[in-house]
Amino acid sequence: MSFEMDADVIVCGAGPAGATAALRLARGGARVTILERSALPRQKPCGGGISTRVFQRFPYLRQALSRIPSRAISSLYLEGPSGDVFRMRSDGDAVVLIRRIEFDHLLVSLAMDAGARTIAPAPVVQARQDSSAVTLTTRDGRTFRAPMVIAADGVNSVVARRLGLNPGWPTGQIALDMMEETPTTALRSADPETLWVFYGYGGAEGYAYVFPKPDHVNVGIGYLLSYFRERVEEHPYALQRRFVGELRERGLLDGESQRETFTPYLIPVGGPLRQTAAGRVLLAGDAGGFVNGFSAEGIYYAMVTGDLAAAAVLDAARGGASVPANARRAYVRAWRREIGVELRDSVLIQRYLFHSPAMMDRVVRGAKAYPEFAALLIGYATGRLTYRAARREFMRRFPSLALRFAWLALRAKGEGSRQGRYQPQR
Ligand SMILES: Cc1cc2nc3c(=O)[nH]c(=O)nc-3n(C[C@H](O)[C@H](O)[C@H](O)COP(=O)(O)OP(=O)(O)OC[C@H]3O[C@@H](n4cnc5c(N)ncnc54)[C@H](O)[C@@H]3O)c2cc1C
Repeated sequence: MSFEMDADVIVCGAGPAGATAALRLARGGARVTILERSALPRQKPCGGGISTRVFQRFPYLRQALSRIPSRAISSLYLEGPSGDVFRMRSDGDAVVLIRRIEFDHLLVSLAMDAGARTIAPAPVVQARQDSSAVTLTTRDGRTFRAPMVIAADGVNSVVARRLGLNPGWPTGQIALDMMEETPTTALRSADPETLWVFYGYGGAEGYAYVFPKPDHVNVGIGYLLSYFRERVEEHPYALQRRFVGELRERGLLDGESQRETFTPYLIPVGGPLRQTAAGRVLLAGDAGGFVNGFSAEGIYYAMVTGDLAAAAVLDAARGGASVPANARRAYVRAWRREIGVELRDSVLIQRYLFHSPAMMDRVVRGAKAYPEFAALLIGYATGRLTYRAARREFMRRFPSLALRFAWLALRAKGEGSRQGRYQPQR
């Protein structure tokens, strides 16, 4: 590719989606510029838990990760609303915990080593496209033009909004996750080898967690924003302090919550936007709604969609004519094939199986009663089983649940098309 532009491709945002896209583009020989709002390294409020299948999908990551502190976890503690507990241990590591300030900087460094240019701080405030290029304007008036843009600017994506791809997330499709990432000198997990998850904490549509990292602990509570606004009266930090206090009383945490490390932030959990590409722009990561609606895991999907968007642009450019149209088509096809069904199912699970505390308790009890269910879950998290294979096996072993699921999928399909969300075809 070669154009009289600032770059062949501009990537807006230097999170996992943007950095992964830039790495793929730079390795593919494209001139790529990342525009990042904040000075680097920058912090992103996040639990920093990534399922270890990420190493299968991005093999270079295992070696790269040795440059930053991380903790591999094979022990999971899952608690239902009425106190039922399910403990699970995987053969190998199922989750790796990182700090985002370090992880994201590592990913950006890999992209820069491969030749990507990064301009930061460069907060984009305006985006428009014409027949030959996309123009991005930063707050201080600089303009950048490129024939293709990958918008990886997160949950509040300016590019997606300015181009009319996202009118704003409905409050029932976004979670408010209130979390602190506190040094272990102030707050520690009593069992730093275990990942703690509390489903239904403080109400049906809530969850809470403790993620122990080498020198920090992340403790957080999340709710669907609609639920939080309608049903939760406490101020976010009051809620956090109460939660930390409860865990301390139970002997699960030791130390004090720290107000200055507490950063509530949003996660899109309603599934991908119906339109994830338009004109010369492809949306990746949170900007396109690529988050698991049930676990709120987004780092993996951000990396996958960043990678797929970059691959689509490179392939389309090699094809010559109609680059934007071919890139759009290839990108949407690729993400639907790789993660479409998985993300759709995750939203179904979130909306229907976990809509009442009783239902969540049943799931925790079910997991205890059927160890083969846990085995499938671990196989999927570690990448030993693809989602489709795990799903097929699940349907085979639990036919009555499978029937119920099919019914829920059908119902959601009708609702989804009314709400303008993506619905995969099977
Ligand atoms: C509290 C919390 C806990 C979470 N825990 C987990 C977890 O444990 N595991 C997990 O997998 N996921 C978790 N998630 C979700 C995960 O953080 C996101 O899905 C993930 O960060 C998405 O990556 P991204 O690259 O799409 O966006 P981001 O990581 O948000 O990166 C977007 C980048 O774009 C930049 N940007 C934004 N606007 C502009 C602009 N106008 N101009 C230029 N640059 C811009 C931002 O500064 C940022 O660097 C959590 C989310 C929250 C809020």
